[in-house]
Amino acid sequence: MSEMIKRSLAEHRRALDGGEYTSVELTRAYLDEIDRREGVVGAYLTLNAEAALKSATEADARISKGVARGALDGIPYALKDNFCTKGLRTTCASKMLEHFIPPYDASVVTRLNDAGAILLGKLNMDEFAMGSATETSALGVTRNPIDPDRVPGGSSGGSAAAVAAYEAAFSLGSDTGGSVRQPAAFCGVLGMKPTYGAISRYGMIAMASSLDCVGLVTHTADDCGAVLSCLMGVDERDTTTVAHPDPSFKSMKKDAPLRIAVVRELLEDEAVSLEVRNSTEEAIGLLRECGFEIGEVSLPSPDAALAAYCVISAAEAASNLARYDGIRFGHCAATEKELLSLYAKGRSEGFGSEVKRRILFGTYMMTEDKRVLYYDRALEARARIRERMLQILKQYDMILTPTTPTSAFRTGGSLTPMQRRRADLCAIYASLSGLPALSVPFGHDKDGLPLAIQLIGAHFCEGLLLQTAKLFEEVR
Ligand code: GLN
Repeated sequence: MSEMIKRSLAEHRRALDGGEYTSVELTRAYLDEIDRREGVVGAYLTLNAEAALKSATEADARISKGVARGALDGIPYALKDNFCTKGLRTTCASKMLEHFIPPYDASVVTRLNDAGAILLGKLNMDEFAMGSATETSALGVTRNPIDPDRVPGGSSGGSAAAVAAYEAAFSLGSDTGGSVRQPAAFCGVLGMKPTYGAISRYGMIAMASSLDCVGLVTHTADDCGAVLSCLMGVDERDTTTVAHPDPSFKSMKKDAPLRIAVVRELLEDEAVSLEVRNSTEEAIGLLRECGFEIGEVSLPSPDAALAAYCVISAAEAASNLARYDGIRFGHCAATEKELLSLYAKGRSEGFGSEVKRRILFGTYMMTEDKRVLYYDRALEARARIRERMLQILKQYDMILTPTTPTSAFRTGGSLTPMQRRRADLCAIYASLSGLPALSVPFGHDKDGLPLAIQLIGAHFCEGLLLQTAKLFEEVR
């Protein structure tokens, strides 16, 4: 393996600007690594090699003239396959969109293009971002680069595996209920879900709109900050976007002792393994040694949070996925002559079983008599959770939890759907509250698999999370 692909984004910047290597050489090095490792890892669904080398040549021309476009110019990255890329297949890992070539770029893709970043290709995921192991993908198998008998996590399993395997310098995923943080934790890399509304989702294929966020996978906190700064901001095409009050993270507080809240329910839940518990306690001890003030808080029960997430995400997904009717969007059962059977057959053939389960469940939750009973109550539970989280974040700077209850599980559908749901336990509080959350690698289990802690901050406090993550990097 070429050593250059192990470098941070800032090191790439210095090497590219200083002429140590070119963007074409760097892009080739990542493509070589993809070539070498994909047989086992399987992170990519579509490669963009030729276009990537062409963009790299253009980046080199800018760099040699001294007019590089900033931190990311000439640096290769990859995208989860639910971001629309003009002229490049975008599948959501579903038969439904297997041959879909978008006519436009997602806003984040436009921003990265404008910044000169080099798109290497599109990454595997759970079908329509529903899952926790990338095993619901209809188009391929992705394995954990640390141990191929383990899943990479999901739904952004390809995004985490690609970065962990040095098959891209950074990647984007989507995080609705942990889909970037959990795979990042399983693969030993950093995973960020920013504040809801901080990054435009225009062109990111929707799962559950009130929860969906663009997420980032990187090796270091500084890398994460550099990519975040490039992506954040108002986009008139996504009306949920807002201007970030601190886009360069300059006003991070540094000196005052920071206060961290530890959530007992999430450490003591029966789903949380002893190793995860011990490792989280170790992280807490470390922060205490570094002068952080640690307190204990209580959150509304995990069962309520899981139920609220499950109902809301399925209801919204059922509504979002109604557009795949085989006429406007998606796989068409063209042999059918009747309209209703054309819908029914196309959707039966196009969607996999996890997606169907959620569409049925979500639709049922929204029928007239069930809506009040389930959906409205889920919204109430969500409001209570959000209120409590915000209250805690008035007294504390951050909330600390494990990212996942266990390390990466074995491949081959080793968990039941209910167990998989419970695996989202720690991730969903931040999702339901729209808060920024960062998964930071910390420690390993007895099999050498990575473990991670999660830091949750108040809205727009990404800078504080990154600052704290750096502390863990220094210790590592
Ligand atoms: N594992 C969660 C689910 O299946 C997360 C999904 C997501 O964040 N896209 O719902």
